[in-house]
Amino acid sequence: MDSGTIAVCASSLQCLKYNVPRPTAISIDLDSLVHNVAVTRSRAGNSKILASVKANAYGHGLIPCCRALQQHVDGFAVAFCEEAVLLRQEGITLPLLLLEGPFDRADCDTIVEHNLMMTLHSHHQIDLLEAADQMPSTPLWIKIDTGMHRLGFSPAEAVQVTERLRKLGADSLTLMSHFADGENPSSSLTREQQQAWRSLESTAMSGTSLANSAAIINNLTSTTDWLRPGIMLYGAAYAGSLEPTSLSPVMSFKSEIMALRKVPRGQTVGYGGRWTAPQDSLIATVPVGYGDGYPRGAEDGTPVWIHGQRFPLVGRVSMDMITVDVTTLPDCQIGTPVELWGKNLPVNEVAQHASTIGYELLTRMTGRAPMSFEP
Ligand SMILES: *Cc1c(COP(=O)(O)O)cnc(C)c1O
Repeated sequence: MDSGTIAVCASSLQCLKYNVPRPTAISIDLDSLVHNVAVTRSRAGNSKILASVKANAYGHGLIPCCRALQQHVDGFAVAFCEEAVLLRQEGITLPLLLLEGPFDRADCDTIVEHNLMMTLHSHHQIDLLEAADQMPSTPLWIKIDTGMHRLGFSPAEAVQVTERLRKLGADSLTLMSHFADGENPSSSLTREQQQAWRSLESTAMSGTSLANSAAIINNLTSTTDWLRPGIMLYGAAYAGSLEPTSLSPVMSFKSEIMALRKVPRGQTVGYGGRWTAPQDSLIATVPVGYGDGYPRGAEDGTPVWIHGQRFPLVGRVSMDMITVDVTTLPDCQIGTPVELWGKNLPVNEVAQHASTIGYELLTRMTGRAPMSFEP
């Protein structure tokens, strides 16, 4: 817009339109977040809850989510120091665990300064601790690789690692591990991990932690001291043994129809002409695209929620727009509300049509669509 246009705009009512954002927006329902903690708590027995809020609370907004959660959980898990420092700077005083532990000497100082708990997964991290000025007074978490083969000491090393840390003056050690296939409680991988975990129980420790959401939902561990739920708090876990509606989606990604057109049979829609109208069709254009975090990989037929029903996405997702076949809904209009995912349409269902998982869609929102928090 050149300055002339702005001047004309500013003096005309018409121009107010420029101040109204496009209807695409994300709303975060903090009551649902708290509700999902209560569901988790009901399955937790006496275990404490360490809520996983890494990656900006799975894309839901780190600070507002932690403020809403802090009365209801026993601590927060983040991936690395920078995420934890953000929380301390906002006055969050609960225990914070760094799931990946320190990366360097500076991290060790930050851990002491901000009173963080760290995961130790390798000897090079214990070397860092040895070289640091000060041992943290917070509990140390020792990560054991029971079969995920991504991070951690082997079960056979557990005793030696414990001794090494005790020599450094550590008195509170929590033993942790992580399931690779918690969605499948009876897979051989899960069983092998459970067996490896049981073999560790004789290692004298101050605490234990094993379960992520899938393991909690599948009741894979009931006797550990700490649970580490993530995705279930955001209402986007696969249901497993839970009542499918017991968890409530926290994020709603919404927009409105911005244009409608009739596309004759045989014509194509969108980039590359991927979709061809099999009949005379009514196509709704919605102002949301991969620039906002809607997955470009979404195939024809990906569900879009309009007027209480699923309608199929047709044609490739653009940066700013998608196209939806609403032929069977002739009474829709410009401005008809659209849900991309949320209370009515599970993010996992959309993810399945885009060869990915809900976790990825939630954590890769681009920040372009405005996010609001309720209540
Ligand atoms: C992310 C993470 C969790 C939480 O996993 P969800 O599947 O989101 O419940 C738990 N433990 C570790 C080590 C993690 O990295």
